[in-house]
Amino acid sequence: MSSELYDVVVIGAGPAGLMAAGAAGAAGARVLLLEKNREPGRKLLISGGGRCNFTNAESDMHRLISRYDAEGKALFSPFARMGPTQVLEFFASRGMPYKIEDNNRAFPRSDKSNSVLQVLLDYIENSNVRLLTRVTVKGLRYNSLRVQGVHLDNHDIDARSIVVATGGLARPDTGSTGDGFSWLEQVGHSIVRPEPSLVPVVVEEDWVTELQGLAFGEVRISLRLGEKTILKTDGKVLFTHFGLSGPGILNLATRMSQVAAEARKQGAAAPTICLNFFPGLDGGLLDRRLQDELGAYPRRQLRTILETMLPPRLARRILVEALGPPSPNTANTNNTEITASEVPKQLRKRIVILMQEFRLTYRELQSEDWAVVSSGGVPTVEVDFRSMESKRVRGLFVCGDMLNINRPSGGYSLQICWATGYVAGLAAADAASAAHG
Ligand SMILES: Cc1cc2nc3c(=O)[nH]c(=O)nc-3n(C[C@H](O)[C@H](O)[C@H](O)COP(=O)(O)OP(=O)(O)OC[C@H]3O[C@@H](n4cnc5c(N)ncnc54)[C@H](O)[C@@H]3O)c2cc1C
Repeated sequence: MSSELYDVVVIGAGPAGLMAAGAAGAAGARVLLLEKNREPGRKLLISGGGRCNFTNAESDMHRLISRYDAEGKALFSPFARMGPTQVLEFFASRGMPYKIEDNNRAFPRSDKSNSVLQVLLDYIENSNVRLLTRVTVKGLRYNSLRVQGVHLDNHDIDARSIVVATGGLARPDTGSTGDGFSWLEQVGHSIVRPEPSLVPVVVEEDWVTELQGLAFGEVRISLRLGEKTILKTDGKVLFTHFGLSGPGILNLATRMSQVAAEARKQGAAAPTICLNFFPGLDGGLLDRRLQDELGAYPRRQLRTILETMLPPRLARRILVEALGPPSPNTANTNNTEITASEVPKQLRKRIVILMQEFRLTYRELQSEDWAVVSSGGVPTVEVDFRSMESKRVRGLFVCGDMLNINRPSGGYSLQICWATGYVAGLAAADAASAAHG
């Protein structure tokens, strides 16, 4: 293989690398795609809980870009060529029907991330890309003018253009171990230190494990310091064995950790995360609803009634919290066994408050291994976004999670991968053909 020369070598067969390789191959370049895992697209397969929220179908470009941080302005150019409309068309025209859910989140109609991966695998195959898996790239070869190829374990490969698509640092078990960052530093890029960014939250309460797996569509989430509300948003919430996850929590997590750090510095208590499971009802109406249920079924267990309003495990936990610890002076030691007609007003009021202010104490962010994306990476000013070419070395292209662009959960990460991968692939093919003369 050492004597072989490729027009384009793409490193990393994640979504950005697969798109780049396919685009370069479709443009007529001789392309080699190198992946260190046994299979391509490992992170893609676990994305969106296995359903893959593959883009955000926001059609207004300014509104779409405003969801990214300030660095996101660089995306205008790649999104003009492979924006959400083109991405939806790309997958649909290759036999993958899709559906749009709340907040413009696009999913394959199959609800399977494998459908997305299959389109990409067909794309590279039809573009005559050579895919080699279980091959770890060790470094880049370049001279002062341009790239020359890549180092593997025992030999080198020559290339006219190289696309680095090795991903960020989130979930290193999927293969994204940040290899590309050190190569780019060696050629003169300044890498913004990657930090976990969309990451679940660990809470103090051990009993949260009882609620593991419960998912809620629309919860009002607020972060409080004492009784003061510091942050508030509506979003999906998922209970895990250590605390909370889901898009609503992931999007607030970094700010939660900043508020907690500030509170710690000032010697204040840790912030609490309050969940309102009935954001559409004010407290009075919710109380009315509970009273109606209790009045309609006076002989039923209170717990059974609550279970008609909330998932049973959460209903039980709310009842335990509302009743407080069993008291030795109370005759009823198994005090969750209380019938509707026996419910005192104070207990009912406490239950209503807990349904709308279910409190958990913030402890810390989960480790990097749990992050959905990491912030940091190659600064956007060091890359020409019209081609995704490095401004440090000719013939070197960068795309996907390697770029320093912060984004929320909701299909925004993969949208970056498709657009920057596509532009990088086409430009890498062009540059190779120009270098060929
Ligand atoms: C749990 C989870 C859920 C997510 N859900 C969503 C979602 O629903 N929607 C969304 O938009 N985004 C989601 N994301 C983020 C999305 O998956 C990433 O943005 C995307 O995978 C990044 O693609 P990439 O191609 O840049 O990098 P990666 O997917 O990280 O791929 C990089 C590839 O490079 C390979 N590689 C690394 N080093 C080397 C080397 N030295 N030699 C050869 N190969 C190498 C790796 O093995 C890997 O296959 C999710 C992420 C996680 C972790």
